[in-house]
Amino acid sequence: MGKKDYGEFFQNMTENFGELKIEMNMDVREKLKIGYYKNKLEYPKMSQYKHKCDCGCPNCNTELFNKEGFVAVKNSWNEEQRRLRSLFKKDALEEVGLSDNPKKDKIFDKAWDDAHSSGKIEVLEMLEELSDLF
Ligand SMILES: [Zn+2]
Repeated sequence: MGKKDYGEFFQNMTENFGELKIEMNMDVREKLKIGYYKNKLEYPKMSQYKHKCDCGCPNCNTELFNKEGFVAVKNSWNEEQRRLRSLFKKDALEEVGLSDNPKKDKIFDKAWDDAHSSGKIEVLEMLEELSDLF
């Protein structure tokens, strides 16, 4: 790394730590607003994993599909989705004071099933309502 690169490197590092500190002090609503729980990975398109056969025959129209590659990227995406969902669950339950409730999983599943199609903010609001009952 040159001198200039080091400068950029440290600047990026400071900015990243700055963000991290801000995120730690944010409540779930604010985190939702900045897309903290959004999956930043790109969902793979099947077409990106299809290619023409390279056998060299002039009449070959075979199309090959790199299934392993597609599935691997899709699995990473799903894994990230699960990670973000459980992170949201942990944060949201903590925020509404249900972290130590023995029924927290059931309560969360109910709020999730009823509200997540309208967005995570709705899930949080439903959890807030439900938390009054417990
Ligand atoms: Zn071929």
